[in-house]
Amino acid sequence: MVLEPVPCPNCGSINVVRHGKTAQKKQRYQCQNKLCCRRTFIQEYTYQGYLPKVKQQITDMAMNGSGMRDTARVLKISRNTVTQELKKNSPITVCERKILRGDQLNPNRCQLGTYTRSRNG
Ligand SMILES: [Zn+2]
Repeated sequence: MVLEPVPCPNCGSINVVRHGKTAQKKQRYQCQNKLCCRRTFIQEYTYQGYLPKVKQQITDMAMNGSGMRDTARVLKISRNTVTQELKKNSPITVCERKILRGDQLNPNRCQLGTYTRSRNG
């Protein structure tokens, strides 16, 4: 696993240092940018819901007809995260959007995340 620089969510600087852990055992960071207000932040807070594994799970659950609420509950993420992820993830957008809207659709027509009827516009 490659460790990527953790950008400060406040100023975008990657000049950050580890700054202990939270009560939930999450890594806390502190921004070292002097122009920034040097606030501390938690990586998980920024990244939660955007890990490839979580993305895949969101997609899988939606494809299986799970509602946003169920997906959020099972994956222990917020419903907003689920919604954002599904909106952002363009290959599945058409199909997922229908699911999120509550449209009746045939799961068999969701292929590779694209609802076949809408494929050509
Ligand atoms: Zn900063």
